[in-house]
Amino acid sequence: MTARMRLQPEAIGLGMTSQRVRDRLIDRLRAGGIIDERVLNAIRTVPRHLFVDEALATRAYEDTALPIGHGQTISQPWVVAKMTESLLRDGLPHREGQPARVLEIGTGSGYQGAILAALGMEVYTVERIGELLRTARKRFRTLGFNVRSKHDDGRIGWPECAPFDAIIVTAAAPALVDALTAQLAPGGVLIAPVGGSTSQSLLRLQKDADGVVTETNLAPVVFVPLLSGLIDR
Ligand code: SAH
Repeated sequence: MTARMRLQPEAIGLGMTSQRVRDRLIDRLRAGGIIDERVLNAIRTVPRHLFVDEALATRAYEDTALPIGHGQTISQPWVVAKMTESLLRDGLPHREGQPARVLEIGTGSGYQGAILAALGMEVYTVERIGELLRTARKRFRTLGFNVRSKHDDGRIGWPECAPFDAIIVTAAAPALVDALTAQLAPGGVLIAPVGGSTSQSLLRLQKDADGVVTETNLAPVVFVPLLSGLIDR
């Protein structure tokens, strides 16, 4: 882990947010087939209970999605682990001494972005709901994660900062978004849930050095929809 996280007293956790309870989640993820120690270590150290409402903190280390307001959810830890592991699987393209640059669509609680930052990546994240983004930004600041973020419709990506070595879409669309695939660097990997409103396939796209894209289906998943338009509240 290269990024440094500030350890606030509340980040350490007690009772249902203690290290022992967090380690049980890690055991569960391993049982679910997650093997990348870097990913498991990031999940062990990033305090998920600080990415949900206080009333839900005691459930933060269950392997389940939880509501974060505005009809949205923080993704299930196994899904976060699977997506992150798949991004890192074959190594990401990056320039000598520079961190890999990753674009996340759907900041939500900020948890997935924090996991990527904890892994030493340079994170760009886009969220359409103003209030969720403001809360996530506070969490990044409190925990000392340097994450770049913007309030926008993520379906246009972040063209001024493209290309990205990795792109992770955390809301589901009926088809892959061409603007995002276009912002992927040669050698880069894009992970996105694609399908209808009740179930989707988690797809992994790898772009080779010549720009040729290979697609694999990782797992069946359920994500909230990728929607258009901004909400200022
Ligand atoms: N990665 C998040 C998961 C949040 S759920 C986390 O770790 O908590 C998906 C998020 O995508 C929601 O917050 C939703 O508002 C956002 N979203 C949906 N459509 C979007 C769009 N077009 N652009 C940006 N964000 C979008």
